[in-house]
Amino acid sequence: MSSPPESSWIFLNGRWVPREEARLSVFDHGFLCGDGVFETLRAYQGCVLWLERHLERLMRSCARIQLPSPIAITRWPSLLAELLARNGLSDAMIRITLSRGVGDWGLDPSLCSRPTVVALAKPVPPYSTVRKHGVQLEIATIRRTAPEAQPPEVKSISLLNNILAKQDALKVGAFDALMLNKDDLVAECSTSNVFFVEDGVLHTPARECGILDGITRGAVIDVARAHGMPVREGYYALDRLLAAEECFLTNTGIEIMPVRQIGDCRIGAVCPGPVTRCLQTWFAMAVHRYLSSQPEPGR
Ligand code: PMP
Repeated sequence: MSSPPESSWIFLNGRWVPREEARLSVFDHGFLCGDGVFETLRAYQGCVLWLERHLERLMRSCARIQLPSPIAITRWPSLLAELLARNGLSDAMIRITLSRGVGDWGLDPSLCSRPTVVALAKPVPPYSTVRKHGVQLEIATIRRTAPEAQPPEVKSISLLNNILAKQDALKVGAFDALMLNKDDLVAECSTSNVFFVEDGVLHTPARECGILDGITRGAVIDVARAHGMPVREGYYALDRLLAAEECFLTNTGIEIMPVRQIGDCRIGAVCPGPVTRCLQTWFAMAVHRYLSSQPEPGR
């Protein structure tokens, strides 16, 4: 296995199960139909960053697909603390998955009586080296699913659209694939939001472009505005991005990842550029502020 070892203790339907013994039914509608939602979180020094925002998004995803969560939102802080402790991790990636549960095959959600709940943790991949030099993006041949087809605010486990884009990137050895929407406007990457800098203004595609409203995206917008940097959420053709002074990606794992090349086009004169560096510093300060504001027992 090439990826880092995942948690040896897994939270599965209310029980703590060793990794080797964690099993799901072939009749789980997560497997049969991709019917479910998930959330990816990150712990720093044993404290889950912006936990409330992640849990609120998880609950919104559940509500939108009418999936009643068997775990009350108030139970997650202690469950995740236990997940980290059992796995001996303090800096970690965490994934919570809720599927419709087990039932006869078919699309009807009422075939399933109880949702499946899983929580996993693993070490954070070493992003710091690649962050120093920036990454290359490929322009995906596949378009981002239209919001009218599948609401992007639902963090769905049906990720085929994103996987097809990722395959485009992997084919050419790129870090990720940039996805346009059906109107030829820049949307996002397969697992991250995209930002660019033009004349000192920070730009990012509006939610209406069909993106997942990333927690990191929101945090970057907040820190930029708090420091007086102008931010626009708008509608952008690919040309605008290719001509940008700087470009970077955001998500919970990579935080702020500079982009040095999109397709054949180099972005900006230096990578990371000065605005990206500034935002990385402000972001690190915001993370530190959040961690310091959390009570020790919850950590
Ligand atoms: N867009 C997509 C498609 C994603 O899968 C992710 C990762 N969850 C993001 C954006 C970034 O979201 P976040 O900052 O909440 O990790």
